Amino acid sequence: MDAKRIKKILSTASPPNLRNYTSSSSFTWEKSLAELDGLPEEKGINIAHEAVDRHVLRGKGSDIALRFIDKAERITEFSFQQLKDASNQFANVLKTLGIKKEERVFGLTNRTPELYITALGAWKNRNVFCPLFSAFGPEPIKARMLIGSAKVLITTAELYRKKILKIRAALPELQHVILIGQQKLEEDFKDTLNFQDLLASASTDFTIEPTKPETMALLHFTSGTTGTPKGAIHVHQAVVAHYITGKIALDFHPTDIFWCTADPGWVTGTSYGIISPLTNGITSIVDEADFDAQRWYRILEMEKISVWYTAPTAIRMMMKMGTELVRQHRLPQLRFIASVGEPLNPEAVYWGMEAFNLPIHDNWWQTETGGIMIANYISMDIKPGSMGRPLPGIEAAIVKRLPNDKLQIIHEAGVKGELALKAGWPSMFRGYLHEEERYKKCFLEDYYLTGDLATCDEEGYFWFVGRADDIIKSSGHLIGPFEVESALMEHPAVAEAAVIGKPDPVALETVKAFIALNQGFQASEALKLEIIGFARKHLGAAIAPKEIDFLDSLPKTRSGKIMRRLLKARELGFPEGDTSTLETSL
Ligand code: ATP
Ligand code: MG
Repeated sequence: MDAKRIKKILSTASPPNLRNYTSSSSFTWEKSLAELDGLPEEKGINIAHEAVDRHVLRGKGSDIALRFIDKAERITEFSFQQLKDASNQFANVLKTLGIKKEERVFGLTNRTPELYITALGAWKNRNVFCPLFSAFGPEPIKARMLIGSAKVLITTAELYRKKILKIRAALPELQHVILIGQQKLEEDFKDTLNFQDLLASASTDFTIEPTKPETMALLHFTSGTTGTPKGAIHVHQAVVAHYITGKIALDFHPTDIFWCTADPGWVTGTSYGIISPLTNGITSIVDEADFDAQRWYRILEMEKISVWYTAPTAIRMMMKMGTELVRQHRLPQLRFIASVGEPLNPEAVYWGMEAFNLPIHDNWWQTETGGIMIANYISMDIKPGSMGRPLPGIEAAIVKRLPNDKLQIIHEAGVKGELALKAGWPSMFRGYLHEEERYKKCFLEDYYLTGDLATCDEEGYFWFVGRADDIIKSSGHLIGPFEVESALMEHPAVAEAAVIGKPDPVALETVKAFIALNQGFQASEALKLEIIGFARKHLGAAIAPKEIDFLDSLPKTRSGKIMRRLLKARELGFPEGDTSTLETSL
């Protein structure tokens, strides 16, 4: 499976931060922590201090921290000094409102400056930031705010009227709603405050109170791909991982211009859209608009993006449009592209070479891990289809849960098992809020069990097989959807594919594929047969799909993940379960 590899030739002009993976054994979390400040006078560690104030203290106050592009492509810039002032003001607002340590501040808005100021201000006041996708409907918003005991909500007047008004009475713990933009003196807006007015009347001086490394900082809901979303708790100490993973896995250098396309409603948009680039002192671009290939290529060019972090779903959408459009743009600054969220098919890695003259570097992590755990580093050969190797400081293993609640570590290369991580890295989640049992079940002996199946090869590269819930058992084979989907993607007609197991009296399950076609291809019986034949040739008859359905598009979560469980439920006529994060559930 690892016959093909993309050999890396390193430029000596800007040597990578991780020069040589195999000699990275001197890495320790303590050394990473030592690269940060900690609060003055040993008063602990606070994410916002490391992200913003630290750079101002070092004379970098005038450097640009964030460049926001609104939907109309107007730009608003914040230097580290401006961000320090604005977040201090918002911390003062929260303090004045009486919001106490570890109480929850929810954000429900597009990717606008106010959301980022809210996050930083909340951390400074030692509150917990909890971001929600602004596209969520009232019910998912209510459910998450109830679980999180939301004390404050920051949103826009428009979203408030559309989504919050009708649920506000059902949120008895919600003390303050702060609206961005000018709300008129209307009945709808009684009992709300105005973000700009509050900020304008608050002081830009704020001293962060002592913050213990274990103080809760973030409540992040998982994507809900496999079931009901869980509220993962993260603490201030996580900043050590946010910082160092940006430096090592995304290779941040001081002059980089970085673009993370994820929304903070998904953990990537918080860990790598806010914390990681800021702690590394680099400039980040934040685009308010949703995916649009033309706009994205324009941003890459105009903003001179050098490091770009995006998701397989976006890459597949770009692939669907071919390389003609991207070729109309000059992107000489772009030097590193990474992707997370779903398996990255080898096809996508090769397409990156064609379109950008750069491979796409897959990396793997979860809401629960808080930061990148396994990655294809800039200095390391890429084996397309592999997630890469564990971050220095992270011990990953392929394991089997034994019936007596013991753990067996599988040392043999290529054998499928559950991906597990030795517990104890700084950004490891500290709980699922109000679900202690569920949290405990994730740990066995010294390991955190991820719920994903993978294999590891002789060189320590990890290969994603599928989520434990999505594995198909057919005629004695354990089939990972990724393997089948990647083979299907190689057919020129296939833009996206998702496979499920369908109960079968003889084989236990058979493989069924759902396919969205590339432009210029028409669904037909003949094409079905052709694709099935193609898959058989590549995978063998036992693993290739027996059945194919063509769909215009595949159901996805707001964070862009294909919801196989939904396809399966629909196929088998089962209830659809929690669809609160479904992209089209507005
Ligand atoms: P839920 O736990 O609510 O079902 P979710 O697992 O999709 O949702 P996230 O934490 O956003 O929520 O996603 C993490 C998961 O995404 C991983 O466990 C893995 O299944 C998948 N994933 C992330 N990155 C990769 C990758 N590079 N390759 C394969 N799978 C990935
Ligand atoms: Mg998960």
